[in-house]
Amino acid sequence: MYDVVVIGAGVTGCACAMELSFLNTTVLVVEKEADVCCGTSKANSGIVHAGYDARPGSMKAKMNVEGSAEMEALCARLDVPYKANGSLVISNTEEGRAKLLRLLEQGKQNGVKELRIVEKEELRKLEPHLVEEACCGLYAPTAAIVCPFELTIGMAEVATLNGVEFQFETKVEAIKPVEDGYVLTTTSGEVRAKTIINAAGVYADELHNWVSKKKRRITPRKGEYYLLDKEVGNHVACTIFSLPTKAGKGVLVAPTTHGNLLVGPNAEDGTDKSGTNTSRHGLQEVLEKSGRHVANLPMRQVITSFAGLRAHEEEDDFVLGEVEDAPGFFDCLGIESPGLSSAPAIGKYLASLLKNKLGLAKKEHPIRQRKAVTRMKDLDLAQRNAWVEKNPAYGTIVCRCEEISEGEIMEAIHRPLGATTVDGIKRRTRAGMGRCQAGFCLPKTLEILARETGIPMEQLTKNGRTSSYIKGKTK
Ligand SMILES: Cc1cc2nc3c(=O)[nH]c(=O)nc-3n(C[C@H](O)[C@H](O)[C@H](O)COP(=O)(O)OP(=O)(O)OC[C@H]3O[C@@H](n4cnc5c(N)ncnc54)[C@H](O)[C@@H]3O)c2cc1C
Repeated sequence: MYDVVVIGAGVTGCACAMELSFLNTTVLVVEKEADVCCGTSKANSGIVHAGYDARPGSMKAKMNVEGSAEMEALCARLDVPYKANGSLVISNTEEGRAKLLRLLEQGKQNGVKELRIVEKEELRKLEPHLVEEACCGLYAPTAAIVCPFELTIGMAEVATLNGVEFQFETKVEAIKPVEDGYVLTTTSGEVRAKTIINAAGVYADELHNWVSKKKRRITPRKGEYYLLDKEVGNHVACTIFSLPTKAGKGVLVAPTTHGNLLVGPNAEDGTDKSGTNTSRHGLQEVLEKSGRHVANLPMRQVITSFAGLRAHEEEDDFVLGEVEDAPGFFDCLGIESPGLSSAPAIGKYLASLLKNKLGLAKKEHPIRQRKAVTRMKDLDLAQRNAWVEKNPAYGTIVCRCEEISEGEIMEAIHRPLGATTVDGIKRRTRAGMGRCQAGFCLPKTLEILARETGIPMEQLTKNGRTSSYIKGKTK
């Protein structure tokens, strides 16, 4: 029997697992997909929001401000890309100024530091590519960007190093309360747990409703994006937002930590919780709204598009804590934006509740740091040569767009919670994330993955289950 079973290996499940790994306890993370970071945590804007959006007093506001404040130090410990680039909410009209002032006031109430209104002249200096009509903005210097994959993977690796177990391709299908906890029926057999953290993203309402009479309902709210090539990654420096509406923060234009440009998302409520496909009308909407504040967006440089699903809960707040009529069952539910920014605080908060519930003691010397896969591209010539001398595989470039070597791919496979799929390699190294979107490197990546894992080439997949590449041999 485990002390805690965490359901879901997204950014919140992994944050909980990492924080619990600093305590003397037994933890299992179960995930229906083949790797960590396969749900919403892999498809978002990567913004570390300053914290002025959420209603004062809400869990969203509290977790956002606390999480953002911790993010830089956490990323430094986990060797995860983070950049304090600031954000701007832009108004093209004087009527919008009142809304900006309301956001400013709300931000102050939430405890956001350094927030201020900037006027046209300063706006231009900060962002020369803004449209002529942009007349004022709310500037949040504490906003930042982070790599969502590496953040999630980093936290999961630290958890593993401290003894947390992960079980992939394991879907929880039923949860039954028993005298000393819960029995989970999964696709890999039964698991017993004293307590459960329900971090199942858009599916968290279903799991909650199995154990509680107070029903929850999550609506998957889709957001679609364009990702642009690195050539145009510096078209803006800050994250550029429109004035928020009821549906969310609107279409933004932002750089990514790896130097691309991101344009999106829209917001469309649906019913399909697995529907992360992009659509013609969704991308068209993004296109139409994208030029509202940023001029001459270089949309010819689009290299891919993608979509993510926000877990929108009816009460419009994060639901965090023990369920009243299900002792030992803890919800981490309704974690839509700013869930990524909030994840460090959510992990700490839930781990503290579990610590009290189970009477857990702190571990004496837990591991709190990890080193990411070597980034050859960021090294100087002498450092690169030293790596190639140690292992010539670091001298063979596999992904030409992102300049990723065979040695880096091998590292991604042979590390705690190492990659077993092509997407796993992509998210740990960036091989296949560049302009050609794996057009050139995929066959070589498959060869390395088969060689290093011993998995036959025909059984290798993009992201688990039926997503295999090789269907048979030609003559
Ligand atoms: C378009 C969009 C833009 C966003 N932009 C930002 C942003 O810029 N900044 C920000 O702070 N936040 C942003 N967010 C929000 C943020 O991405 C999410 O809040 C966060 O990723 C949620 O993480 P999670 O771990 O709760 O969920 P997920 O990442 O979805 O993880 C849940 C996991 O549970 C697993 N699971 C589900 N059911 C089961 C089951 N029965 N058994 C086993 N496993 C199961 C899933 O496979 C999944 O891996 C954005 C979200 C979207 C959709």
